[in-house]
Amino acid sequence: MANHLFQNIRDRIGPPDDRIFLESPGRPELTFADLMSLSARVASALVGLGVEPGDRIAAQVEKSPEALMLYLGAIRAGAIFLPLNTAYTSAELAYFLGDAEPKVVVCDPARREALAPVAAQAGVRSLETLGADGGGSLADASAAQPADFADAPRGPDDLAAILYTSGTTGRSKGAMLTHANLASNAETLAEAWRFTSSDLLLHALPIYHTHGLFVAVNTLLFAAGKLIFLPRFDADECLRQMPRATAMMGVPTFYTRLLRHDGLTREATAHMRLFVSGSAPLLADTHREWRARTGHAILERYGMTETNMSTSNPYDGERIAGTVGFPLPGVALRIADPDSGAVLEREKIGVIEVKGPNVFKGYWRNPEKTAAEFRGDGFFITGDLGKIDGQGYVHIIGRAKDLIITGGENVYPKEVESEIDALPGVVESAVVGLPHADFGEAIGAIVVRAASASLDEAGVRSALEGRLAKFKVPKRVIFVEDLPRNAMGKVQKNVLREAHKDLFV
Ligand code: ATP
Ligand code: MG
Repeated sequence: MANHLFQNIRDRIGPPDDRIFLESPGRPELTFADLMSLSARVASALVGLGVEPGDRIAAQVEKSPEALMLYLGAIRAGAIFLPLNTAYTSAELAYFLGDAEPKVVVCDPARREALAPVAAQAGVRSLETLGADGGGSLADASAAQPADFADAPRGPDDLAAILYTSGTTGRSKGAMLTHANLASNAETLAEAWRFTSSDLLLHALPIYHTHGLFVAVNTLLFAAGKLIFLPRFDADECLRQMPRATAMMGVPTFYTRLLRHDGLTREATAHMRLFVSGSAPLLADTHREWRARTGHAILERYGMTETNMSTSNPYDGERIAGTVGFPLPGVALRIADPDSGAVLEREKIGVIEVKGPNVFKGYWRNPEKTAAEFRGDGFFITGDLGKIDGQGYVHIIGRAKDLIITGGENVYPKEVESEIDALPGVVESAVVGLPHADFGEAIGAIVVRAASASLDEAGVRSALEGRLAKFKVPKRVIFVEDLPRNAMGKVQKNVLREAHKDLFV
């Protein structure tokens, strides 16, 4: 048996030669031959630490070419890779390490001391280091290893990674992703988005989430394309690289920040063939402004940690602002009644359910939750509300957990947010349900105003009256400088609900 995911990568890269695979400012370029030898060395070093197929390897490391080699080395060793958000504190890591029980943990050298007791408590066998500069104990152990490695046999159904969800709605859950989940999605996306070995992807995303690691890296590996690997998003740096790059994958904040930059012009983006957005909703306004400034229609897609990518706007054909396009080839998607599970017809709002080779195997060590989130016929209940329009485009309406029930009436926050966002002087808004003695929940709107805007609470409420049914008009409007967002640019509605929980009581 081969190593399903890595054998796919090998087959697609072809003979590893001197073609450049990755460049990162201030660091030496890596060729495909380097990719093979460096990941082989890491795999050998991991085996030397006692790693066996099926063991977990947790990594909380800064983004670097070496961190990518750690991912590939872990896959080649047959281990289950478990990347962790670099923002997590030691106390938060105690939960992840206790839950996943990794044999090896790799962390930044600066955090080793603080993490040592946490790792010991979780029974971790070795705590290794890898710095942003590529140095550390893992690099030292790898340097001494041979440049060849016999990849551990792993079948399509074996686990390749456990990826914790972003924790937007509560405690992060470990999603078990198989070799086939990752390989099939990379193959589908490379094809759907026309990636080839001529592509040079601007990579400014973190690599501890599906978006940056699997969607971006695996897809480019499957196309034998190249990466410009930036440590973090920086609008100046992205614009500097764009005249050479062919594609960028980003979260909506990348696009809004670039739009605020004078350097974003038609000329600056002339060499690019594709801009992809996902992880959070892209405002229709952002899509339109981007198109007007650059001539490019951003391609929005939809996915989640548990499902990899499920839908995408078309590469050829119309990319419609405010939609996430069609189910990807091989993915079955339906809209169901959240309570009864009955499949709903087009235009009806319900919970989005998906099934296909992209869908994960279940939540790590949580068979009850896994069972609760799958229908009997194998469809996964995403927890996102949406609808399919008359042309077959999927629209995301929001999360089922964010649905507001006020005085017995259902209100979809997105409908109210869209009306508020359309008011002159509003940058963006978030609408949440807050505890209320009479109504159960009452609607609060948290609004970001443009610098010069004089809009006030009464102005927003009166502008919405007549446009929205009375029960949908926010009872209170609060102005803030910024909405709270996590690393992927997702608005943290739970943070807003907590901050304003006493507004109506
Ligand atoms: P948690 O499950 O821990 O609460 P999370 O759902 O934010 O966190 P992820 O798996 O990283 O964790 O994110 C998936 C979610 O992101 C989807 O369920 C969906 O709500 C949202 N999402 C992804 N892409 C889009 C998009 N294009 N438009 C709107 N929402 C999107
Ligand atoms: Mg989720």
